[in-house]
Amino acid sequence: MRVLLVEDEHALAKGVIAGLEREGFVVNWVDTGRLAEASIAADAPDIMILDLGLPDTDGLKLLSRIRANKHRFPILILTARGEIDDKVKGLDAGADDYMAKPFDFLELNARLRVLERRLGTASTSTIAIADVVLHINTHQVEVQGGDLDLPRREYMLLKCLMENQGRVVTRDQLESRLYHWGEEISSNALEVHVHHLRKKLPDKFIKTIRGIGYTVPNQ
Ligand code: CA
Repeated sequence: MRVLLVEDEHALAKGVIAGLEREGFVVNWVDTGRLAEASIAADAPDIMILDLGLPDTDGLKLLSRIRANKHRFPILILTARGEIDDKVKGLDAGADDYMAKPFDFLELNARLRVLERRLGTASTSTIAIADVVLHINTHQVEVQGGDLDLPRREYMLLKCLMENQGRVVTRDQLESRLYHWGEEISSNALEVHVHHLRKKLPDKFIKTIRGIGYTVPNQ
């Protein structure tokens, strides 16, 4: 799940990023409205967290422009405490949820999970394919009835492939879900994760589509 965080308070942003990455989200962070629009144009996120008080743009106007451009991804707005007006205007302008600052990280995480579940890809909280069961809310994976403890990136890789069962997921798509912008990725990093993941899964659960990507075939 890729989150675009638009927040100009750097300390707050860094705390949110650290927390969300622990929860398995991939976070791209920008601190101006201009950069937010550029990043959405380049590659729309799955969910956006938008601070309304930005240095270069009114967050509400930015929100309206995003919706006018037919982007439908969920948007959670952050407002300074007590600005009820902002909350109402934000929801009117197409936000899906809001939180007043200062907020509790656990609550932010819980609300993002709700938005994530509303997305088509995560309409259920459990995905079961053959003997592999993935519990999205708790990040637990079971293989043949036993618990499997996966490192964060292997979990995200498995989730992305299982959500797209029967479709080929390209290397680029997987890398954009596993890494944030500017992160150094060695050319075989993805293969290494797939290699480790495969050893923990039933035989032939993940199929390589040479030169393109990977797929979890329909069973
Ligand atoms: Ca701000």
